[in-house]
Amino acid sequence: MKNRRLIPLIAYVVVLAVIFLWANELFNDSLTQMPYSQVVELFQQEQVRSFVVEDQTITMNLRSESGQDIVITTALASPESFRQEMHSLLQEQLDSGVLEIYDFVPEKGFSPYELTLPLLVVGLILLFVWAMFMSRANSGNPLNNFGKARTVLGVPDGKKVTFADVAGADEEKAELQEVVDFLKNPDKYTQIGARIPHGLLLVGPPGTGKTLLARAAAGEAGVQFLSISGSDFVEMYVGVGASRVRDLFDQAKKIAPAIIFIDEIDAVGRKRGSGLGGGHDEKEQTLNQLLVEMDGFSRTEGIIVLAATNRPDILDPALLRPGRFDRQIQVGRPDVKGREEILRVHAKDKKVDGTVDLKVVARSTAGFTGADLSNLLNEGAILAARDNRPALSMEDLNEALMKITAGPAKKSRVQTRKDLKVTAIHEAGHAVAIYHLPTHDPVRHITIVPRGQSLGATWYLPQDDSANLTRNQMYEQIVSLLGGRVAEALFLGDISVGASNDIDRATKLARDMVARYGMCEKLGTVSYLDGGEVFIGRDYQTTKSYSEKVAGTIDDEVKALIDRAYDHCRRLLTEHQDKLHALVDALLEKESVTGQQFRDLMEGKTLGAASATDMFDSFSEASEPTEG
Ligand code: ADP
Ligand code: MG
Ligand code: ZN
Repeated sequence: MKNRRLIPLIAYVVVLAVIFLWANELFNDSLTQMPYSQVVELFQQEQVRSFVVEDQTITMNLRSESGQDIVITTALASPESFRQEMHSLLQEQLDSGVLEIYDFVPEKGFSPYELTLPLLVVGLILLFVWAMFMSRANSGNPLNNFGKARTVLGVPDGKKVTFADVAGADEEKAELQEVVDFLKNPDKYTQIGARIPHGLLLVGPPGTGKTLLARAAAGEAGVQFLSISGSDFVEMYVGVGASRVRDLFDQAKKIAPAIIFIDEIDAVGRKRGSGLGGGHDEKEQTLNQLLVEMDGFSRTEGIIVLAATNRPDILDPALLRPGRFDRQIQVGRPDVKGREEILRVHAKDKKVDGTVDLKVVARSTAGFTGADLSNLLNEGAILAARDNRPALSMEDLNEALMKITAGPAKKSRVQTRKDLKVTAIHEAGHAVAIYHLPTHDPVRHITIVPRGQSLGATWYLPQDDSANLTRNQMYEQIVSLLGGRVAEALFLGDISVGASNDIDRATKLARDMVARYGMCEKLGTVSYLDGGEVFIGRDYQTTKSYSEKVAGTIDDEVKALIDRAYDHCRRLLTEHQDKLHALVDALLEKESVTGQQFRDLMEGKTLGAASATDMFDSFSEASEPTEG
């Protein structure tokens, strides 16, 4: 392999050398040397009509008997000394008209060597470029490489990852343990005749540690880890993807036992026959090849394919058939305990001071993935480093959390007193409404400090991670979402655009209640909206499964629901307007009010100072800000 690569290189050098020598020869051959004495003699015989010296080359026109000029081009060893010695003779002949043309161009122009030198340089540059190209393509012909899979062997930083590096995720690890065991002692399984799955699909939202788990499985089993991203198969040219798939499995067979990891498999594994526009031929070929390869290797070869996706619903069913990716491992967002463990893993390589309580942080980050948590600690560390502090504190984490969830605080944004008042009234409307809604999650934090897109925010804490909402809870969420707008209408006599996001969300909730969850009497327990997001390509052409009449009823019912919630909210805020105004004053004075301070205010107590953990707590567990 190595030698074969050298052959064209050697050929190239040889050709270059030949050109160089030949060019030299060419120049030397054409210039026969004429002895010095002979030139002098020609002058003395008054035969020279024109005499031009250029560099070392002289061109002479000689008079002959026939009257025809003879042109001689020859070399002169030392033109400068020739000129000096012949000066008087030349001048004399010029004056008498014997010599008609005389020109002397001193050293300029090119010597034969100078002419071949640029050629050589250009040649070397070409050689260099070619060598670069070769080394990048890392094989004889760059075109051969097109169909090769761009795999990465091993772990990027070379650090071995094991299950110990994956915090939480106990169920996921237990499922993978089986694979690890099989790769370690395949005989144990094959003797009994047990079938170990060819492929496992890791399913979960981005950042939940799918890639990490796959790496850890390879590290734990002590086998090679061959990874590739699904999008690496995708290419404009038909057949390339398929040949890359073939190459991937060939590579794996060579280094087995191994784990092949296909990240973002949905890029290749989409349902066939879907997608708008042309060009699915290539995708289908690639997928077909993947199916063929999955069936192709025998169970004794010691290869297991892990794949990751966050959209299992769009995968082709053939991929999920037994014998292929017949097992799915759900990699979910971590719970409180998992979050704490992940935080511990990532806090290990950071300097953390005594104020940091990772338990509290974990409690405050519902819905965060492993990647989010790692990012949170990193943001905190950056804040500490920016202020030249040796370790990161709870305050840094607090600020980092707010920055991540709502964007950096825009303290510098100039706001007039009137703007602030509008924002304060708006947020107070949300908060007071929430306080008087029995099933609503409690208020955690209210602020009129602008962050990201929003001018202010009211945060509340979802009680549990489950998304199972009752009709009453959903209705009360609509009421609280309208709180901002209602407060503006009641106490400003005018309304602002700040509520547009609230209104969007309230409308969507109402629509879901009516048309998706069958929560309204008139339409009955019928779902008119199909679940999930629209997957362009598959659902694009599906028609509405209900009549225009039903569509009209849905719209009417949604409006009725929103109107009812609006009235409800107006009653609440009118009744408690003294408390609302007290909150507005507190917000204008302090900019932020914690959950505890807010409850004190609502109970008619005076405002105390906020404690550091209270501040943090108040934010944290909040995952849903009510913006605007
Ligand atoms: P995915 O592939 O699911 O999108 P990754 O495996 O790439 O997510 O995870 C991104 C990063 O998040 C990892 O490099 C790791 O730092 C962190 N992470 C995610 N889950 C965990 C976990 N359970 N334990 C420790 N770190 C985690
Ligand atoms: Mg990943
Ligand atoms: Zn709002």
